[in-house]
Amino acid sequence: MTMKKKVKVGNITLGDGNIYIQSMLNIRADDISNSVKQAIELEKAGCQIIRAAIPKTECAELIPALKNAVSVPIVADIHFDYRIALKCAEMGVDKIRINPGNIGSSDRIRAVVDICRRKNIPIRIGVNSGSLEKKVLEKYGGPVPEAFVESALENVRLLNQFDFDDIVISIKSSDVKTTITSYRMLHERTNYPLHLGVTETGTAHMGIIKSAIGIGSLLCDGIGDTIRVSLTADPVEEIHAAKDILKACGLSGGINIVACPTCGRTQIDLISLAGKVEKAVEGINKNIKIAVMGCVVNGPGEAREADLGVTGGDGKAIIFRKGEVLRTVPEEEVLEALMEEIRKLP
Ligand code: SF4
Repeated sequence: MTMKKKVKVGNITLGDGNIYIQSMLNIRADDISNSVKQAIELEKAGCQIIRAAIPKTECAELIPALKNAVSVPIVADIHFDYRIALKCAEMGVDKIRINPGNIGSSDRIRAVVDICRRKNIPIRIGVNSGSLEKKVLEKYGGPVPEAFVESALENVRLLNQFDFDDIVISIKSSDVKTTITSYRMLHERTNYPLHLGVTETGTAHMGIIKSAIGIGSLLCDGIGDTIRVSLTADPVEEIHAAKDILKACGLSGGINIVACPTCGRTQIDLISLAGKVEKAVEGINKNIKIAVMGCVVNGPGEAREADLGVTGGDGKAIIFRKGEVLRTVPEEEVLEALMEEIRKLP
């Protein structure tokens, strides 16, 4: 495969080797004040690209309101009506999500392409189970990976025919395995930046599991440039989950906590301690690994790789640095002692 194409979306560049976190507003587009409020919360939580559904031309008013309120790029999500895309482009949107195959005649596609080219607005082709064309579904007998890839590439062709190349692609299925296989196939066949996600994953618990498997598998393969965790929940939850997926895949900095699962040897109230450590280190921007382990039998050994480790032992807690004992403290002082040691690290 040739070099990954770089696509500029507002002030960030997809394809530059970073993985950008995005989410979508779930407030009606005509409720500008609450949409703006949610966008500010998302940005504060760490969202790097914010998408809003724009169902009517009048709703494009939301774009400048969002642009004034946050500094992250704003994406307009548009279905079918090319005039909404034209309006959003005029209103200063940073990216448009639209499937050219759904907007009708080639004159309409050309009109969208022309304004996007003039204003340097990229287009994301977003294929999902619901948007697969009838003829593709008939050819493959259902929403299989080959169908997703063919649909995406056909949409790419519709933009390429007008010499438009500023493209990002997503192909999301609600089936995790289909999503993974589809993206792997697409990655082999194109060099456009890929927006990863599993669609319609459900409520927070299963949604996070499905997204972690789907998005995480692809990220570990080196596939993907931006991720969206879709949850039937507050979108701020999507940002927390996305950050944790990146962390679990070793793709983000910050404090990485490892903790043992506890067993019959556990000599400290580990479940509560691990939770307290997680809470206490929130917002600390150090690139370190902390191990929270239950006993001296396996704890120090298992924590050897960690920058700091804490292990329970006979009513006391032992703090380690790279497997070496630093100090022994009463159990009730362990959190404070650990925080002190964290502060000493660069
Ligand atoms: Fe059990 Fe100790 Fe291993 Fe934790 S570190 S799982 S307490 S043996």
